[in-house]
Amino acid sequence: MSDYLVRATAANDFVRAFAVTTRDLTDEARKRHGFSPTVSAALGRAMAGALIMGADMKGEKDLLTLQFLCEGPIGGITVTADSHGNVKGFAENPDVYLPPNEYGKLDVGGAVGSGRLRVLRDIGLKEPYVGEVEIQNGEIAQDLTYYFAVSEQIPSVVALGVLVNMKDNSILQAGGYVIQLMPDCPEEVISQLEKACTAAEPVTTLLQNGGTPESILEGILKDLGMHITETMPVRFRCDCSRERVEKALIAMGPKELRSMILDGKPVSLNCHFCNTDYEFTVDELTAILEKAMKGVKKP
Ligand SMILES: [Zn+2]
Repeated sequence: MSDYLVRATAANDFVRAFAVTTRDLTDEARKRHGFSPTVSAALGRAMAGALIMGADMKGEKDLLTLQFLCEGPIGGITVTADSHGNVKGFAENPDVYLPPNEYGKLDVGGAVGSGRLRVLRDIGLKEPYVGEVEIQNGEIAQDLTYYFAVSEQIPSVVALGVLVNMKDNSILQAGGYVIQLMPDCPEEVISQLEKACTAAEPVTTLLQNGGTPESILEGILKDLGMHITETMPVRFRCDCSRERVEKALIAMGPKELRSMILDGKPVSLNCHFCNTDYEFTVDELTAILEKAMKGVKKP
C-alpha cells in the first residue's frame, strides 16, 4: 500500500496520536530534486512532520509550512503541507553529502546545523500565524518536539525516520509518529506512555519489519484503549502551474518583462518546491507583456 496517515485517540481522549508512512512521496521528492542520502533523510523527516501537523489543521484551505532557517551545509529547508495529505518541499542545497555521524547514521543534524525553526500556519487570514524556536540539534524530530513544547505548550513525543538504500540512494522506508498529551492528562497515563515510548524501536526498524501506521501506534498505545479515528492517503504534490507562473511574470511588471524580451532569448522559471521548469518564448513573453500593460492601465 502506498503512503498514508492515521489519526488516533487513547486514554479517553487525553492522548492523541498520528502516524504516517511516506516512502513513496520521499522517493518522489528525492528523484525530482536529486537529493543526496543525507538530504533525503532531512526532507523525508520534515515532510512526515509537516503532513502530521497539516492533517491537524481544521480549514479546507489551511496550509502548514516548516522552515529550517539554518547555518549548516543544507542551507535551509522549506516544506509545506495542507490538510488533505498533500506535501511539497525543497532544500537550498539538495546534494550535500556528509559522512555518517558517530552512530553510523545519516548526519541530518550536521547538515542542518544551528538556526531557527519557523512554523507558519496559513488559515486564510491576512497574515499567517508564525511560531519560531531555536533549532535544538537539527535532527528534525527533536526540533519539532521542542516547538510543540515551547510554542504550543503541548507535551509531545515525535519520532521520524528515513532509511536510504546506499547502493542507489532510493528510499527504503520513511515515516513517523507524533503522540501528544492533552491538558490534565492523568499521571499514570503519562508514566505508562513514557515507558512505552522509551521501549519503542526506531521508526525505520518498525517499518522495515513490516510495521504500519496502525501497528506502530498500537505498539505504543495498546494498553491505553487506542482508537483509530481517521485514515488518509498522503502524497507529494505541488500546486504550481503554467498559469501561476504566468501570473508571477505579470506581477514582475512591464519594465522587467520588456528587458526579458529585449534579451531575445526564451526565459525559464523554476518552481523550487517541485523543481519543474516553465519555459516562455519571446513571443509568449510579448503576449504576457500585453496582459501586464492592461493590468497597469486599470484604475
Ligand atoms: Zn511546483
